[in-house]
Amino acid sequence: MSCGNHHNTPCTDVLHAIVLYIDHEIADQASVQAIELHIQECAPCAARTTQEALINQQLKALLNRSCREEASEQLRNNVNAIIREPSNQPYLQWSQSITYTEITTDSFTHTRVEIHERYEEE
Ligand SMILES: [Zn+2]
Repeated sequence: MSCGNHHNTPCTDVLHAIVLYIDHEIADQASVQAIELHIQECAPCAARTTQEALINQQLKALLNRSCREEASEQLRNNVNAIIREPSNQPYLQWSQSITYTEITTDSFTHTRVEIHERYEEE
């Protein structure tokens, strides 16, 4: 995936780091600056960043609303692992739906988050 311009940081590196970047989980300031510079120069990666920020926001709202305190960290990690899946297809039309299920009994709490993503050629 490339917009055709030369970048010091390859698009694939930026796309792989986007979720961490959005979550402010990148400690290395040089890496953060490299990503920010790239996003300014590269429209496809900027679009992807906006998209990921939106998913991130939705998931956080979902988890804040639905999650019991002790489940949220693990669930959040699982969700992050799912959305970290590299797709590298920012040119494609993207759609997403989230199904959140929580079943609580006396002995256990079962939580399930299903995220359906679909990429379609425009
Ligand atoms: Zn790029």
